[in-house]
Amino acid sequence: MLCEVCEAEEAVGRCKLCGRYACSKHLDLDGVCSICKETLCRICNQRLSIGMCLICARIICRECSVELQPGIRLCSECYGRLLNDPSYAKYRDYLKRFLKSRIEK
Ligand SMILES: [Zn+2]
Ligand SMILES: [Zn+2]
Ligand SMILES: [Zn+2]
Ligand SMILES: [Zn+2]
Repeated sequence: MLCEVCEAEEAVGRCKLCGRYACSKHLDLDGVCSICKETLCRICNQRLSIGMCLICARIICRECSVELQPGIRLCSECYGRLLNDPSYAKYRDYLKRFLKSRIEK
């Protein structure tokens, strides 16, 4: 079985997320292939991402994010800061305007 990432090396195992066969170069020690690795949530590094944080632009999974509106997500870190950190006040205003304009459309 050849690695489905490079299609050159012999596969050593299967990715636990997508089930692709991957060689030692393209399969991480924790059993995740390099393709999934790129789409892993940047907060937990365990689940595949489903979107991007509007503030920090990191890719995030369902569990690590808060959906403000369909398709609009914040990571749990930014959301927590948004509520508690005074330096995030500018984002609060930005989001308020952003969400309003989306609703009015
Ligand atoms: Zn490979
Ligand atoms: Zn994979
Ligand atoms: Zn996550
Ligand atoms: Zn964020």
